[in-house]
Amino acid sequence: MQNERVAHILDRIADYMEMDDDFFRVKAYRRAANTVQNLSEDIETINEEGRLQELPGIGKHIAAKIEEILETGTSLYFEKLKKEYPVDFDALLSVEGVGPKTIKLLYKELGVETLDDLEHHARRHHIRRIKGMGDKKEKQILENIDLARKNTGRKLLGHILPLAESIKHQLEVLKVVKTVEIAGSIRRRKETVGDIDLLVISDNSQEVMDYFVNLPLVEEVIVKGPLKSTVILKEGLDCDVRVFEEDVFGAALMYFTGSKELNVELRKMAIAQNMKLSEYGLFQGEEMVAASTETEIFQAMGLDYIPPELRETHEAVEAAVSHKLPDLIGYNDIKGDLHIHSNWSDGKNTLEDMVWECQELGYEYLAIADHCGYLHVTRSMDEKDIKNQSTEIDRLNEKMENITILKGLEVNIGPDGNPDVDNTLLQEMDLVVAGIHSGERKDFFEMTQIMVNAMENENVNIISHPTNRRMPERPEYDLNLDKIFEAASETNTFLEINSNPVRLDLKDVYVKKAIQYNCKLVINSDAHSQNQLHNMHLGIATARRGWAEKEDIINSLDLKDLLKVLNR
Ligand SMILES: [Zn+2]
Ligand SMILES: [Zn+2]
Repeated sequence: MQNERVAHILDRIADYMEMDDDFFRVKAYRRAANTVQNLSEDIETINEEGRLQELPGIGKHIAAKIEEILETGTSLYFEKLKKEYPVDFDALLSVEGVGPKTIKLLYKELGVETLDDLEHHARRHHIRRIKGMGDKKEKQILENIDLARKNTGRKLLGHILPLAESIKHQLEVLKVVKTVEIAGSIRRRKETVGDIDLLVISDNSQEVMDYFVNLPLVEEVIVKGPLKSTVILKEGLDCDVRVFEEDVFGAALMYFTGSKELNVELRKMAIAQNMKLSEYGLFQGEEMVAASTETEIFQAMGLDYIPPELRETHEAVEAAVSHKLPDLIGYNDIKGDLHIHSNWSDGKNTLEDMVWECQELGYEYLAIADHCGYLHVTRSMDEKDIKNQSTEIDRLNEKMENITILKGLEVNIGPDGNPDVDNTLLQEMDLVVAGIHSGERKDFFEMTQIMVNAMENENVNIISHPTNRRMPERPEYDLNLDKIFEAASETNTFLEINSNPVRLDLKDVYVKKAIQYNCKLVINSDAHSQNQLHNMHLGIATARRGWAEKEDIINSLDLKDLLKVLNR
């Protein structure tokens, strides 16, 4: 699906227009981006069937842009705007407090193009002198640059995976191509990725390379060789394509999937067995023992197959030797999504639309958990809304077959750790999700205590996005995780793995730790639109990277057993 990418480019065009105060068109492009973002259908299908202009907010003009993006991977107009303002938009926007208008101002006044430029001028107090900026703003920028810098160069898995898949599909079209696999950190589903690695089986590598370096997504060709080419994509990251013969493909895939640490461990192990492992195969002396598939190589070394998501550290090798690898939760094991928003609060789609999409996804149940209480940041339900929504859910439950809608709420955890909604109201729900939504940061001890208090409330089932990070700009809360996991396990509170690509919270290493504390977890999309329901696989990947099995994840249970563990 190219939906994400199309939406991203439209949104970015809107950013450029915002620089020029072209608010009418900003609105049009934002609206179109939003429409595409929230589509449940594949935009390529809609385009092929000539239905683009039937979508809300998409007229002839923007439809032509979308068509162009689908065909070429970008838009000439967008590329022209990028030339006009040769600024590192992604990096600069990642500094909290810097928006399109500030970027334009800084570019015109000081020629700021990169994070380095920005820091240079902030340190020399050039920014405060610009009309409309001031010393407070300058200080804020300086404070936020470091954070932003930590994250530039690496991009979010959820944003790059569709791009990698698109290139894979474009290569697969070639007749001379037999197989294309995405390798590297994307295959391991690491939450951020530095580049895209593609491995191809073909006996005509010349044709593959000629085709690859001329793809519209390519900005610049760095190396074009017969067996390996490297390009910089317009997206601003490197992409490598390597071509192999079929009989060594397993060894190549294993090697280029990594991680480096795992490869070192495996090579050591091969040597201990009097063999040699490389990207060309597993050898004993001159004789090739195994090379065509990964499974074959693992087997020949006496190891169980290590799923890519576990290939981060040496621990996986140790477990593979002693046949103690976890039986990971599968990408099809989730039976329902327990944290979904509708337009009763800040969601984009109606409750009914969200339910239909869940049915499409094959779920057995879902929980609507709209915001309620006294959130200032977003639309929130009051007591009357909750009653009316409950009536609507009853109506839908009667109408829908094969799917059950649970009545949930997402309450805000207040400064004392209590949900800011009356307990008698919470008691009536099927499920209560509680999360912190204020940006206010308290110290380690206070923050931990707030979370523990929330879990001790017997009406709270799930803690949403427990560390409240947002990549790249907002770091996680500093929490005493041992205390949090202990409390979750004792109070039978379920910790969420939030599948939003900027959250992925709990993150992989915390998932693993939580499981060691016998915590039960839940993988939710926290979708605010139909489209976002499809992010679930990112949460599942995070769970797998945290060694989670089916029994660790409560929404792999069928409805009857789920209701038992919710114990309401
Ligand atoms: Zn939330
Ligand atoms: Zn939410």
